[in-house]
Amino acid sequence: MELREWQEKLKDKVAKAIKENFLVAINAPTGSGKTIFSLLILKILQKKGVYVVRTHNEYFPIYRDLKKIDTKLRFSFIVGKPASCPFADKDVDPEDINCKYCELKERIREVDTNEKPPLQLLRELKKNAIEERFCPYYSLFNSLQEADVIAITYPYFFIDRFRESLGIDFEDYLVIVDEAHNLDRVGEIEERRLSEFTINMAIKEVKSKEAINTLERIKEELKKIVLPDEKYIKLDKVPQISTLELEILADEYEDLRKRMLENKQIKRIYLGAVIRFYTLLSTGEFAPFSHSGKIVLKNPNIGEYLRILNDESYSFLLMSGTLPPKEYIEKVWGVSRRIYYVDVEKEVKKRISGTYDCIIGIDITSKYDLRSETLWKKYSNYLLKIYYQAKKHVLAIFPSYAMMNEVMKYIDLPKYIEKEDTIIDEVYEEIRKHDKIIISAVGRGKLSEGIELTEQGKSLISDVVIAGIPYPPPDDYLKLVAQKLSEKLNGKEEEFLFKIPALITVKQSIGRAIRGVDDHAKVWLLDKRFDSLWWKKNLNCFNATKMRL
Ligand code: SF4
Repeated sequence: MELREWQEKLKDKVAKAIKENFLVAINAPTGSGKTIFSLLILKILQKKGVYVVRTHNEYFPIYRDLKKIDTKLRFSFIVGKPASCPFADKDVDPEDINCKYCELKERIREVDTNEKPPLQLLRELKKNAIEERFCPYYSLFNSLQEADVIAITYPYFFIDRFRESLGIDFEDYLVIVDEAHNLDRVGEIEERRLSEFTINMAIKEVKSKEAINTLERIKEELKKIVLPDEKYIKLDKVPQISTLELEILADEYEDLRKRMLENKQIKRIYLGAVIRFYTLLSTGEFAPFSHSGKIVLKNPNIGEYLRILNDESYSFLLMSGTLPPKEYIEKVWGVSRRIYYVDVEKEVKKRISGTYDCIIGIDITSKYDLRSETLWKKYSNYLLKIYYQAKKHVLAIFPSYAMMNEVMKYIDLPKYIEKEDTIIDEVYEEIRKHDKIIISAVGRGKLSEGIELTEQGKSLISDVVIAGIPYPPPDDYLKLVAQKLSEKLNGKEEEFLFKIPALITVKQSIGRAIRGVDDHAKVWLLDKRFDSLWWKKNLNCFNATKMRL
């Protein structure tokens, strides 16, 4: 197999750094061949590999590239119970499925995980499981032991109890964390939310008067303290629940779980979400915030989840197209071991991905105190202009849902507007109906990172619009994070907690249009604050065209 120039040039250096126990961090753009590169490193080191990725969709490139490199190496993967249990709906919580009531629990079958692409195999296992009487979840678990290359999602590695449940000795593997910029959000895995909607649904599920009364009371108290704002506002108190009340709810939950398995149809149990919320609250490690009409429990100490990166008995390779700088990894993620950081384009001194032209709108800004109806109209006028000149679809990224909805109400063109519960398939369906649409989404939402619109390997997005700098809102959560990190950040809070996260969001959004070496896009930076040295340097936009409407 012919290697690309950067792969050839860097493979031995990276392998050597891993042998010398450095944590290796590789920043290389999308489509540059990072997965193949990491598989090469495994071959050089003669090691087995665990790929830790964000979503199940990312399993396929690992499987595909492994076949290209070496057909003898065995691939396997694990997915959670909601995705693999033949009795469960996809949106259930893993804890809604209580396997102790299931007759298939001990029925493990040998699965050839090398035979077919992972998600196709998973579909077939689920389809045949009931008739052929085996459990896909435990069968896949079993297959991990024999595999040379394993794919898992973030929770299975970064949450101690899940990692331990795999029964894998990670010291024997190279742990490859893909799309590692997402480590910033690793704490979200354990977050719990409580909303009026969840409680109303839970009320419909329970039977006893006591349980109904408890839930009604919690709901009324919740309504008084939550705010609709799309930012985290610290709450001093949350609706309380006594041990006895929690026990009553837990008994009802257990009955529901049992009944659903008996009926062989497991649906999402909202009561479980209420119980998990209070169980997590009782640990004292999570702080309650109001966010968009819900109470959210968040842990401001992400270093706790990432502590494992400092364990020198483990070897790590972090990869991303938008990896934060080394100093950020040390200070914000708390990595104290030696890091070998490779920015591939700098190392090989040339671009290894597609290209883009930058256009900066210098008569507009989304700065909070300047927001008004006039501003929304102006952003919409920009969008119209961009849409009419675009060759393909337009992706417009906004700092918040509120701002996006204000601007998009003026757009009367084929469009898709992201919602909090957007499913990516809806977008694909919409683009099939039109030659050209505006896909509007929020920074750090599902579409700014998750969407991949390509045809024959080329992107179907020709224009990316950044409608205002997508800084994280300066809310109470960020203040708590800043407090925890203040000693390490040493006055660089603005850069580390606002600018770098916003830069990653912008680069990720641009990456939606640059899927391969031949892609070329226009990037419209619609905020005059982009016309600064910091932004132009970090976005490689020194030759940006400036425009006014
Ligand atoms: S099939 Fe049975 S044992 Fe397997 S995940 Fe579903 S409930 Fe659990």
